[in-house]
Amino acid sequence: MAKRKTGLDWILQDRVHGINYLIGYDNKKLIDFYHTYKTNHNNANDKEILWGYYNFLILDISKSKDNKSKLDRNLSSVYGAMHRFRSKYENKRDDRLIQLRIDKEIESYQCNNNVEGYEMEIEIISNKCCAFCDSIDSKRFNLDYAKKNRIIDVSKCKNEWGFKGTVAIVTKRDSDGNLIPKEQNNILKENSNPKKSHQPITAKSNKSGSGCMVSLLPIIAFCIYFIIRALS
Ligand SMILES: [Zn+2]
Repeated sequence: MAKRKTGLDWILQDRVHGINYLIGYDNKKLIDFYHTYKTNHNNANDKEILWGYYNFLILDISKSKDNKSKLDRNLSSVYGAMHRFRSKYENKRDDRLIQLRIDKEIESYQCNNNVEGYEMEIEIISNKCCAFCDSIDSKRFNLDYAKKNRIIDVSKCKNEWGFKGTVAIVTKRDSDGNLIPKEQNNILKENSNPKKSHQPITAKSNKSGSGCMVSLLPIIAFCIYFIIRALS
């Protein structure tokens, strides 16, 4: 049976290695943090140091010069790692950390993210979490609305370990399934009545009864004029 790793080896092997990879950090910051923490806290155990490193990451990421989108995404990843720590090592469900993970994920989406120039929406993905989360699965919200309102209240989740779903940014589509160019959205709304927007096509009008009536009006008026004159 393989001997359980301890100290820096255990921390490097555990979640931190994954989180460093996710947020684009190499392990130098972790190794420096580990030695500094050990020096300042004589009896610190591995889990305490790992938790301390997560808190260090929150501060370090918040001070970074990255754009807000990347910064929020990285914070979301750290909150996700902290929640996994709570579940795995403390057998606790921590809704506060789950909510922070989701809120930061939503905040990370910029209007022009990935598919520049198109209307975007936020979609809830429940990952078959529980009955409540399945009831909100695939629901979509305007990006601005999702940023200003809590579209997922994770405290309502019935899963023992809390909400295990996520959110995704997707392109908004009109009723015909077409992407909606952002700058043309207002124009599309104005021309939403296809008959109105195709008025220059006159062939249909000429075939219609109203078209005939319009073309006969001068003749009818002419006849009425003569009838009135004949009667007077
Ligand atoms: Zn759930």
